Amino acid sequence: MKNTSNGKSLQRELLKIVEASGSNGVSMKSLIKYFKIEDNRISELVELLERRKLVKVVKIKQGNREELLLYPSKVKVPMIPISLATVSEVPCFSCKYLKECEVEKNPSPTTCEILKIWIEKKVKESNK
Ligand code: SF4
Repeated sequence: MKNTSNGKSLQRELLKIVEASGSNGVSMKSLIKYFKIEDNRISELVELLERRKLVKVVKIKQGNREELLLYPSKVKVPMIPISLATVSEVPCFSCKYLKECEVEKNPSPTTCEILKIWIEKKVKESNK
């Protein structure tokens, strides 16, 4: 979907997606797919954000595969297994407001009804 060449705006957008994903986290694979840039470029940006303590990176195992999940730094990383399908369903990936959406702005992931409803639905599903 994206192919932003500016490193700073790419970093900001990446961080925004991670923040919007909350405790669901977002997979590195989804980010690579979304931004349509080389794997190592995303890895560099993620490393940079991790060093600045803006994101947490967690390695999870899905069968024989390993996947990296990114979480906002303030989120307590859940200890339950997470479905990668769920991670790629985060509504922000298909939202027309993704570019403008930021914490403490309008729209914001902290006040977004779409995201709230989606998270509540996932919580209900996981409690069944
Ligand atoms: S408006 Fe909601 S769904 Fe859209 S990017 Fe922001 S938090 Fe995500």
